[in-house]
Order: sequence, then C-alpha cells, then structure tokens
Amino acid sequence: SATFNSVVSISNLSFAYEKQNRVLDKINLHIEKGKKYVIVGKSGCGKTTLVKLLAGYYTEYSGKILYDNTDLNMMNENDIVQLSSIIHQNIYMFNESVYDNICLHEDYSKESIDKAVKASGLNDVIEKLPEGLLYEAGENGSNLSGGQKQRIAVARALIRNKPILILDEGTSAIDMQTAYDIESRLLTISDLTLLTITHNMSKDILELYDEIIFMADGKIIEQGTFETLIAKHAAFYDFYQLKK
Ligand code: ADP
Repeated sequence: SATFNSVVSISNLSFAYEKQNRVLDKINLHIEKGKKYVIVGKSGCGKTTLVKLLAGYYTEYSGKILYDNTDLNMMNENDIVQLSSIIHQNIYMFNESVYDNICLHEDYSKESIDKAVKASGLNDVIEKLPEGLLYEAGENGSNLSGGQKQRIAVARALIRNKPILILDEGTSAIDMQTAYDIESRLLTISDLTLLTITHNMSKDILELYDEIIFMADGKIIEQGTFETLIAKHAAFYDFYQLKK
C-alpha cells in the first residue's frame, strides 16, 4: 500500500497533453511532509497540471514521482487516492444538505465531522443557519456563497484525512479575506502537507507559506520563502510587483 511519511521526490518530470506541446519541462521538486507550499505563476504555466500529476491523474509522463521510495506509477489506483485530495477551482455541490455535501453519503463519526467543520471555518457559517448542517445547498450550491462552498469543499477534503491537500484556487471568485481565513486555518494543521495554487498575490497570504514555488513555461524558475524571493529581486519579484 502507498504511504507518505517523509517526502515526495519529483525528478525530471515532463508532460504533454498533446505530442510536441510540452506543458511541464523537467521539473525537480521535493515536497516534505507537513510543509506548506504555494504555487504561483502566469495562467497556463502548468501549475494545475503539476498537481494533477502528483495526485496521479495522468500516468503518461516522463521522469519520476516517488512517494517516500515508492514510484507513483507502481501504485494501484486505490492506494493513490488515499494520498491526496484536490479542491478544484470549480467546486461541485450536490442539491442536498451541507452535511451530505461534506460526507458524500459515507459514514463519519460526529467527532470527525465536528473537527472538519471547525477546521474549515464552516462552524461560523453553520451557527447562523437555523437548520445548521441540514441547510440545503440548493441546485449546484445556489443557496451558498463562493466562500461557503469553498469551506464545504475544505471540510469535505479534511474529513477524508489524506496526508496531502491540494487547494487550486485558480481564478475562483473568493475574496482575499476568505482566502486568507481558509488558508491560515489549513496552515495550522501541522501534519497536513498543503499545496495551494493561487492568483492572490498578497504579501499577507504568501508570507505564511514555508515555500513559494514560482513557475513559468512549464518550469520551476524560483523557490523559497516570500522574504527570500523578494530580496532576490528576480523573476518572482517582478511578477509580484506587476500583480500587486
Ligand atoms: P495553470 O494551472 O498554470 O493555469 P495548466 O496546468 O492548467 O496551467 O495548463 C498548462 C497548459 O496546458 C496550458 O497551455 C493549457 O492550455 C494546457 N492544458 C491544460 N489542460 C489541458 C487538457 N486537458 N488538454 C490539453 N491541454 C491542456
């Protein structure tokens, strides 16, 4: 079975959806257990593709992805899904209660539900609703705001207790304050390895992470803390100044 106890080692990872069109170009990256990473870079540079490969969505890549010492391509699908959860930019909501949207008709103890609801910041939302967790989400979550949906998606992921959480904010409509609230909560979960893809070029958010991974054209161009990358006055610095 698959485990993740210390490090994911990505080496020489290249990938193309269509031949000749290389989307990832010889990526090398170490992801350490419990650390928090934020991936930034222009739209289309390969951020989402990188995390999808990490989560085992595609097998036709070149290079290696090792979880501890096990090759991702040698694992079976049931093991791979136990390693990570991805929260995609478009969150799917069922026309059911908030409770059902978190548990997805699997059995969880009251204790783990409470824990996930609290860690996602959903308890603040739930307390204000007369029906609490039994509040109906509506057709595709129409009774909920973007931030509330995001929190439900976080609770849905946390309750499954996978070692790696991938948050793809993309260009999602959540405001800075909501993003900050959600991310700062996730950053306090010490055994959780977090990878966030964001377009939010806010110092307050970026400096909370252990490492910024800055990508361009399918490559990792720079990597380090916010402070280090700003002090470097190079590619990330330019990108940050432009976006700010
Ligand atoms: P980012 O997350 O940085 O915006 P993506 O990883 O989504 O970038 O996309 C990288 C490149 O791969 C883009 O040129 C995009 O158009 C292309 N791409 C993404 N998904 C697919 C797909 N399913 N089929 C073909 N090309 C894709």
